[in-house]
Amino acid sequence: MHKDIFVWIELRHNKIQDVSLQLLSEANHLQTQYKSKNIEFKVVGVITGYQTKAIYDECFKYGADKLIICDNAKLQEVSTQHTTKAIVDIVNEFKPDSLLIGASVIGRDIAPRVAARLNTGLTADATQIEVDETPNSTLLLVTRPAFGGNLFGTIVCPNTRPQMATIRPNVFEKRELNKTNYEIIHFNTTFDSVDLVKLIKQEPKLSHSIDISKARIILSAGRSMAKHMDLIQQVANELGAEVGASRGLVETGSISKEHQVGQTGKTVRPLVYIACGISGAVQHTAGMDKAECIIAINNDPNASIFQIAHIGIVGDAVEILPKLKEELLKLKA
Ligand SMILES: Cc1cc2nc3c(=O)[nH]c(=O)nc-3n(C[C@H](O)[C@H](O)[C@H](O)COP(=O)(O)OP(=O)(O)OC[C@H]3O[C@@H](n4cnc5c(N)ncnc54)[C@H](O)[C@@H]3O)c2cc1C
Repeated sequence: MHKDIFVWIELRHNKIQDVSLQLLSEANHLQTQYKSKNIEFKVVGVITGYQTKAIYDECFKYGADKLIICDNAKLQEVSTQHTTKAIVDIVNEFKPDSLLIGASVIGRDIAPRVAARLNTGLTADATQIEVDETPNSTLLLVTRPAFGGNLFGTIVCPNTRPQMATIRPNVFEKRELNKTNYEIIHFNTTFDSVDLVKLIKQEPKLSHSIDISKARIILSAGRSMAKHMDLIQQVANELGAEVGASRGLVETGSISKEHQVGQTGKTVRPLVYIACGISGAVQHTAGMDKAECIIAINNDPNASIFQIAHIGIVGDAVEILPKLKEELLKLKA
């Protein structure tokens, strides 16, 4: 009998990646949906690492009822070879109904390998998960963008277990749930003595790298702002904001891809998202529509971005932004 919702806890240098905490919290949402159908599933965090004790509390804080821990020197850094083996062995031993993994660069490497070895289905890069309402069904309805983001497809995995999905960072919120009644299980397995992949050394990126996915305020610019990037940067500095971009702007070469928001860029969830000269194509909005407050500046009153904006300003961004900057400077004076 397969049961429980497993979440793989992704670690880098023994720090839990936010996406795993977001998934633990979302798994609690699924747990409530199961409960309403009298199905009792636990939220189980799967830890594969080395000397990981310090992170257990954080997992319980964000919603784990139980942890299964495979602690081994071979797992000190995520390893395509050994981490895959550890997760597969845990799944074969504990038989979860579902296994959720963050769609990070590492998660996208590990999850398909795990799914292939378990001969089960994987929905990659999902943006929504719900429990099927049919009585007694444990099926998950997992939604992901398809056909270049023009359609959303809901995928089910009726015949095999676990049902696997990778979920994009920042699609769900992490919530403090502070589980007090929890369980810890230590799991040992054997590893290949030969390392097929060897990590020689890790070097931090030398360029100033930004992470817009953690920003509280994002000033995002579209294609039409390509010649006005100084203005965008100045206003962003005054606002204490990071600069985001549409793919249209990235394609002009005025800004690097790490600033891109959307389906093939980053998913962001800031308090304030200011979209300047961005049309609001579905591939862009898929990455920012969960911002608390969306302010759109566009000279076309019919631009689709206004359909999701909380505040819409119809006008030329090149005229409006300097005024905004002036007002901000006045506030500071
Ligand atoms: C498979 C696939 C994946 C994609 N992934 C992404 C993605 O991750 N992120 C993304 O952004 N896009 C993505 N796209 C592209 C997306 O479909 C759009 O083409 C893109 O978002 C358009 O960028 P834009 O709004 O900056 O440019 P445009 O479509 O050129 O729109 C410019 C907007 O600026 C307005 N404007 C012009 N001048 C001014 C001015 N002076 N002041 C105010 N407003 C002005 C115009 O009215 C218009 O609304 C993807 C497309 C595909 C097919």
